[in-house]
Amino acid sequence: MVMPELVAAGHTAGEPRGAVEGRLRDKFGRAITDLRISITDRCNYKCVYCRTGNEGAQYAELPIADYLRMVRLFVSLGVEKVRLTGGEPLLRAGLVEMVEELSRMRTAYLPDGSATAEGLPLDLALTTNGHLLEGLAEPLKRAGLNRVTVSMDAVDPAIFAAITRVPRSYERVLAGMRAAREVGLGPVKVNCVLLRGFNDGQIEAFGEFSRAEGVIVRFIEFMPLEEDRTWRPETVVRMDEIVARLNAVRPLRELPPNAASETAKRFTFADGIGEIGIIAPVSRPFCGHCSRVRLTSDGKIRTCLFSQSDHDLEGLMVRGGTDDELKAYIRQVVMRKEARHHIGEAGFEKPSRSMVHIGG
Ligand code: SAM
Repeated sequence: MVMPELVAAGHTAGEPRGAVEGRLRDKFGRAITDLRISITDRCNYKCVYCRTGNEGAQYAELPIADYLRMVRLFVSLGVEKVRLTGGEPLLRAGLVEMVEELSRMRTAYLPDGSATAEGLPLDLALTTNGHLLEGLAEPLKRAGLNRVTVSMDAVDPAIFAAITRVPRSYERVLAGMRAAREVGLGPVKVNCVLLRGFNDGQIEAFGEFSRAEGVIVRFIEFMPLEEDRTWRPETVVRMDEIVARLNAVRPLRELPPNAASETAKRFTFADGIGEIGIIAPVSRPFCGHCSRVRLTSDGKIRTCLFSQSDHDLEGLMVRGGTDDELKAYIRQVVMRKEARHHIGEAGFEKPSRSMVHIGG
């Protein structure tokens, strides 16, 4: 049952029937078009800023068919982009077949917002540590995956192995990233989380890496989402510093955003070679344009990385919820999406799950 106050809050111009029908929106009018889904809680890396190194998976994983049913429901409500993540998604058996199924789905809305029976293919992406990507890039491309983002926190092999706590990991990931580029899973993005005193000496080398490898390097400000309690404001390397350091080596030129909900500020170098994105949730939050919701490996909806609770979609499915009941539940949950996060503010509370158990 949809609560009346939620219907009223969801009433937006152009969608007179409010929250019970039409495109999925939250009470602030933000359209939810982007779903991130963790397909396993397991990971084969123990990145120092993410995991303690002692804990393994903590949450269950569902049958792939359950994830597919959930995605179908979200797509029928207006989701256009689906990103598979984890844990480490390449560890999940059935991944390639899952991508094949996803590639057959079609959007329920056209880019102008009008409902359609025809629909467009989904934008299908995957975030991975890249360790198993060399062998999987080609099958994933063939299955219909569009793009990958590879997490690489250093371009120096020794620093890389110290961060992942896996020997020779740099060589594996580099080979995986190159394989993805060769098969056309691009533009390949490389995500780097900078930690002061650990890998912040890599900024300039990453600038060169973007140019030499033809990939988009994206620096992400470290957020308080780790299993441990290592986050400190002083550990965060902020956007202004990253820009200044890159500029000192080679002048940067700002690029326009690809979309209103773009999280990265984009740059190229003066000669147009290379691309750098900076995602600055700490120094320049972008919550006002947030178009995302997340599904955890155990089938819970999270409306914000920093939510204090999850919403049990899987539970409702297991209890025999019909598609209409599940869709009504999704609408109610999305109505409660938080206005913004509160990183760095007095009284900030760590979220109920860390990044690896949410799906970044
Ligand atoms: N295993 C995959 C990978 O390594 O990309 C997917 C899951 S991982 C949790 C997703 C992304 O979250 C990675 O790019 C990782 O660097 C990033 N991440 C993890 N903890 C973070 C934190 N505390 N702040 C910012 N980004 C974080």
